[in-house]
Amino acid sequence: MIQVLRNAQVYAPQSLGLKDVFIAGSKIIGVVDAGCEFELPDGVEVVEHDVLGRQLIPGLVDCHAHITGGGGEDGASTKVAAPLAETYFAAGVTSVVGLLGTDDITRSTEELLAGVRALREEGLSAWCWTGGYHYPLTTLTGSPREDIVHIDAVIGVGELAISDHRSSQLTLDEVLRTASDCHVGGLIARKAGVLHLHLGDGKRGLDLIRQALEQSELPARVFHPTHVNRQRALFNEALELTKLGCHIDVTAFPIEDGDGAISAADALREYLASDLPGNLISVSSDGGGCLPVFDEQGRMVKYDVGTSASLLETLNDLTDSGVALERALPAFTSNPAEHLRLDGKGRIAVGYDADLVVLKEDGSVVSVFTAAETHYKNKN
Ligand code: ZN
Repeated sequence: MIQVLRNAQVYAPQSLGLKDVFIAGSKIIGVVDAGCEFELPDGVEVVEHDVLGRQLIPGLVDCHAHITGGGGEDGASTKVAAPLAETYFAAGVTSVVGLLGTDDITRSTEELLAGVRALREEGLSAWCWTGGYHYPLTTLTGSPREDIVHIDAVIGVGELAISDHRSSQLTLDEVLRTASDCHVGGLIARKAGVLHLHLGDGKRGLDLIRQALEQSELPARVFHPTHVNRQRALFNEALELTKLGCHIDVTAFPIEDGDGAISAADALREYLASDLPGNLISVSSDGGGCLPVFDEQGRMVKYDVGTSASLLETLNDLTDSGVALERALPAFTSNPAEHLRLDGKGRIAVGYDADLVVLKEDGSVVSVFTAAETHYKNKN
């Protein structure tokens, strides 16, 4: 069976104009001008969907999602429940990289891997980082390098915490050893082999990453700091780091007046207005994670819960403010897919996976296709 999405305003993420997109099995087999002939084998069943000129974008790639649920920073009653697969589809997310955070004791790599399988069973594409905030790392095999090499779903280590009161107060040697495990494991297994680092509010900022780059032979792409928009000074440091070739990740968390954070939309607007390489930035959600506020003594005073929906909200914020969709989209699609070597993801092109999202005029999700099935349909 062949499926055709007719009359789609395609953003691949670059703008391609009005196209018909042909899908066989889980793959895109043709992207042609709307209404043009496309040769198909005789007798094949063709199912047509008219997209009515709406925008068709690649499914969003969320490289930082607490698929098991996160939290637990004020006792077990503050652990957050695992988001349902439906939450990702509703948010236009078709590829997810799960992880463990502060609680890598009552949550385990086993549970995380089961979470990956659960999402895959539901039609999402899913991977995970091994480890969590702490060192020595929580792993399945006892070694992050072996986890990366032996476990299909593991693409690197994360979210290892630095510059945070909840971190293991890592030394440079420990960071270097872990980054080396990522790099070498990635080479052996043909994976990203990336060290995804949680950044806290600590004044040391990105110092450990700068030292690691200065004092080792490890390539810059191995170090992947996230939450870099949580403080103005930290974001400035992150912008400098991209000049050395590092990929940076901003988090689409809610912003409160006076907390010093920059919204993901503001961070991306600033980045896109600079002359920094367009492919070195991504946006992730921290979905399912706890977004805690601590007092000076490190006690949690309140918390919110992250959601994948914040990705689409950020994208809409950008386009509403006049940023072209094709300029904003790479940070949500092709940039993370290519840095993290999620083959077939993040673009609408022949040979790529048919992970596709139809957007309504107001930027909300009409439908999501994954592996050529319609998984989610907005009734409106
Ligand atoms: Zn984090």
